[in-house]
Amino acid sequence: MSILVVGSVAYDTVETPFGRAEKVLGGSASFFSVAASFFVPVQLVGVVGSDFGEKELAAFRGRNVDLEGLERAEGRTFHWQGKYSYDLNSRDTIRTDLNVFERFEPKIPAAYRAADHVFLGNIDPVLQRGVLDQVQKPRLVACDTMNFWIEGKLDELKKTLARVDVLLINDSEARQLSGEWNIVKAARVIRSMGPRTLVVKKGEHGVLMFSDHGSFAAPAFPLEEVFDPTGAGDTFAGGFVGYLAGARDHGDDTLRRAVVMGSTLASFCVEAFSLDRLLKLTRPEIDERFRRFKQLTHFESL
Ligand code: AMP
Repeated sequence: MSILVVGSVAYDTVETPFGRAEKVLGGSASFFSVAASFFVPVQLVGVVGSDFGEKELAAFRGRNVDLEGLERAEGRTFHWQGKYSYDLNSRDTIRTDLNVFERFEPKIPAAYRAADHVFLGNIDPVLQRGVLDQVQKPRLVACDTMNFWIEGKLDELKKTLARVDVLLINDSEARQLSGEWNIVKAARVIRSMGPRTLVVKKGEHGVLMFSDHGSFAAPAFPLEEVFDPTGAGDTFAGGFVGYLAGARDHGDDTLRRAVVMGSTLASFCVEAFSLDRLLKLTRPEIDERFRRFKQLTHFESL
């Protein structure tokens, strides 16, 4: 079992009401890989610049993340800067310096092509399809996208979605992609585009999953301290796909546990800047919070 992930590896500068972090490790593939590596080996495909240091690479070393597919290009690493509102529910992108990411064309090493699970991070849908053309026959393809591609490359995105099993997006993206305000109607439209399973992320309000088995809802774990939401979505995806890759089947019970596992990992991510909390996390801590999720949502029948 292994997961191939393609996405950004970045320097992030983040401002929240509680502080500021300057040029810290970020990027969708970084959060995803570290979260998923608690479950199965991860193969990371991305690009960094010549300024990307050993200190950042240390985040991946000593865990199950293979870096053969992490290309080092001449130039600077992708840099994203964001600022959160007081309630942490909305953020403004202050700047996006694509740098080496601008010319990124994922090249999948031969050793990765048999990956049985693939996660297509939020990149150009044409490049996402290029990845699928290079892999053999994955059991499951999961995918993320964003408003930029829904607005700018809808036809290309639809061609990619036709080859995707699980789409993970937030509620506003689901509305925009489907043209439906109601999330249940939006889910029907999006599932007819290809992904049999749709996971709609609603930040502090949790997650809704729509699949062939029906729908399932999970809250976000109620935390007293939320420090920095950056990467929560990618960390959710890492926990979700990681759990599925390690499981024997992809039936309804497994999908539901995967949603709760994604929510569990994401709840740790937001407790600190960057990947700081994830890098200190242990499997017993994950299992303990997963159990607390069960208590949180359990109730008796009438
Ligand atoms: P999330 O909070 O889950 O939406 O993910 C935040 C991460 O996405 C940050 O670490 C950024 O480095 C990365 N990111 C922001 N904008 C982009 C973009 N246009 N393409 C790829 N990654 C991005």
